[in-house]
Amino acid sequence: MENAAPNNAVTVNIEWLSDCGGCHVAIVDLHEKILQVLQSVSIQRCPVLTDQKGYPPARVGLVSGAIRTEHDRHAAEEMRKSCELIIAWGSCAVYGGIVGAGIVHSRREIFDTVYGNNKTTLTHADPTSRVSPFEQSVLPLDRVIDVDLYLPGCPPHPAFVFDALIALVEGRTPKATKKTVCSRCTRRMEKTDVDRIRSASEGIPDPEKCFLSQGYICMGSTTLDRCLSPCPTNGVVCTGCAGATMQILTEPNRDIRTEIAERMSRLTAIPRDAVVREIERTAKSHYSYTMATSMIGEKPTFLIRKWLADAEATYE
Ligand code: SF4
Ligand code: SF4
Ligand code: SF4
Repeated sequence: MENAAPNNAVTVNIEWLSDCGGCHVAIVDLHEKILQVLQSVSIQRCPVLTDQKGYPPARVGLVSGAIRTEHDRHAAEEMRKSCELIIAWGSCAVYGGIVGAGIVHSRREIFDTVYGNNKTTLTHADPTSRVSPFEQSVLPLDRVIDVDLYLPGCPPHPAFVFDALIALVEGRTPKATKKTVCSRCTRRMEKTDVDRIRSASEGIPDPEKCFLSQGYICMGSTTLDRCLSPCPTNGVVCTGCAGATMQILTEPNRDIRTEIAERMSRLTAIPRDAVVREIERTAKSHYSYTMATSMIGEKPTFLIRKWLADAEATYE
């Protein structure tokens, strides 16, 4: 199925790799604005909309998901060959995202968890067909093909998706704010005498006060705003799903845990080192969206396997 766009419409191919499908739902979240997009765009290939299995030549390719399987690699390469411009769409494609959290487990561990030791599978054996072989590790899209534009977010907010699509139709570069989630959050940062870290589910946070001031680890100050700050606005800490700020990604010595620790220790009576230790102990949560990107994974200060081993040792 192709939409009835005019002949001069921008042709678009869409592909999803290893991901949750949420980025495709973000297109549906455009609601009536999708009609405006469809007036100028001809969607030729889209796994959730069209029955097109091939890769027809297109002006723009939107690719969501990370490279986890041999099929992902093949699909990414076909998209690159068929599209003039490739957009890495969503945090999985940009950084590896949630799928990228698989880097801290071996393929054997993952297969044992999903098949071997899973009570809901029938055979408890590795699948021998219908599952594409795993790559050695999880990779963001640009580790396999060249990417022209990055649109992080988990998923990107429909406002950013709309802006990116309309910008491409109009032949301009989409707006890319470098602001953080904090920039849109209305909570007040203030100095308190809070002296211990609280888990996200503990107590009822003050709705006016910054989570950090209350002892909750909120990642808004280290996270790029690609979402319009829905979580802190609605009473939930930011978990950093849109990925780290450009400063953290590009400067080797800037790091999520130390930046949050500096800020939190200034706002509370909690020692900086206690915050660093807590973020290291729960590193799988705090780095879950970005650990597969070399911009985080190759930082000299990023030692996730050591942190996880230390955390496991404390439970034994
Ligand atoms: S970025 Fe988030 S919403 Fe998009 S596919 Fe990945 S996990 Fe799903
Ligand atoms: S750290 Fe979290 S709660 Fe505090 S201002 Fe930033 S987004 Fe809001
Ligand atoms: S506020 Fe944080 S966790 Fe919530 S959507 Fe935005 S980046 Fe993701």
